[in-house]
Amino acid sequence: MRDATILVLGGGVGGLTTASELARVVGSKHRIVLVDRRAEFHECVNNLWAISGDVTDYKAVCADISTLLGKLGIDFVRDEVRRIDPTSKTIETDSETIKADYLVIALGAKLVPGLVPGLPEAGYNIYEWEGALSFGRRLKEIDRGKIGVLIARTPFKCPAAPYEATFLIEEVLRKRGVREKVDLEVYTPEWQPMLSAGDEVGSMLMEEMSKRGIGYNTERMVLKVNPHKNEILFEVDEAEYDVLAVVPPHVAPNPVRECGLTDSTGWVPVHPNTLETRYRGVYTIGDLASIKLHNGLFLPMAGVFAMAEGITVARNIAHQLGEGAGAEFGGDGFCYIELGGGLAAMGQGNFYARPAPKITLRPPSKENWLAKHELASTVINSLKTQN
Ligand SMILES: Cc1cc2nc3c(=O)[nH]c(=O)nc-3n(C[C@H](O)[C@H](O)[C@H](O)COP(=O)(O)OP(=O)(O)OC[C@H]3O[C@@H](n4cnc5c(N)ncnc54)[C@H](O)[C@@H]3O)c2cc1C
Repeated sequence: MRDATILVLGGGVGGLTTASELARVVGSKHRIVLVDRRAEFHECVNNLWAISGDVTDYKAVCADISTLLGKLGIDFVRDEVRRIDPTSKTIETDSETIKADYLVIALGAKLVPGLVPGLPEAGYNIYEWEGALSFGRRLKEIDRGKIGVLIARTPFKCPAAPYEATFLIEEVLRKRGVREKVDLEVYTPEWQPMLSAGDEVGSMLMEEMSKRGIGYNTERMVLKVNPHKNEILFEVDEAEYDVLAVVPPHVAPNPVRECGLTDSTGWVPVHPNTLETRYRGVYTIGDLASIKLHNGLFLPMAGVFAMAEGITVARNIAHQLGEGAGAEFGGDGFCYIELGGGLAAMGQGNFYARPAPKITLRPPSKENWLAKHELASTVINSLKTQN
């Protein structure tokens, strides 16, 4: 088959990986189109370092994708995706209709603080750059009271990130000499941190929080927040706060929910090895994809998976077009978990293992911390230098 159109929706971690791998394998033999509302890629992990005050320049942690895609021979359409028809593999943006032979949906998760009444006014959304940066500035001024870190709903992207944020907050308070006067509490609907990664990782994180005197309040499903009284109302009880860092509810973007691809989880069920949806030639990868593991939990939302899935999908599409070998996503992944004080732990393993994910934990070390920071700068610098 010649001159196929491969349409990639989303230019985040998964979409960019898919499109560039496709360009590498099929070259200019077929048309590759990527649609995103933004022309820049922002590396989310840096939100953590905006909280700690180590990164404050947005431009340093962003890369322009339009030039990069142009150089790779990929057509970039900067526009809002409004409608997706998976049956005909056709999409509508604000300005055009595009019909494809293969459709890869990598639109990520949408953050909706407003799903919890009072939340937008009450807290800093640390999952967005501006919120993380503003929270980081506020953190420099707090010298007494109580900071709450509130995880509003599951699932949320990067299951380690709220805990990493908490450890960095604790470190800033300690370095400023005000830790004794500021309570730090985490509230989450989970019953332990990083559920899919298993008990060893969860226990390690709980122990590290306990060592630092961080309160950990599990099975707390927030119903509403009163920003005037600084009160959080949970299903089971209430809590007060002075400053609130928030991981808001995540949902699938509107065009994905409206096109019938989602199931009762609100996310898109896909084949665990090929990422194909129930529509032939239509794939969903990254945060949007819902993959149930053998223990009944779901594959976490993480950039490492979005990348590996993107490469799998790109190679399989290329293979169907007569180029290169196909591939299977086997559920391998890893995560560095920053603990403050220049230390990070690392969990690595296979999430498709039976009867449950098989994850090995590397204990906190300076090497892990360096590896995490090096990985983050390698990713963003390689995107910048290709421009
Ligand atoms: C604080 C933080 C730290 C993290 N740290 C890590 C980490 O250390 N390791 C790790 O593996 N993961 C980490 N993650 C998670 C990682 O960032 C996500 O899992 C990853 O970005 C998901 O990739 P994706 O391609 O599915 O979606 P995204 O990267 O979110 O990309 C989605 C793209 O779609 C575009 N889009 C959405 N809707 C539309 C529309 N209607 N029209 C046009 N364009 C649209 C968006 O503009 C965006 O560019 C972290 C996340 C956060 C918030």
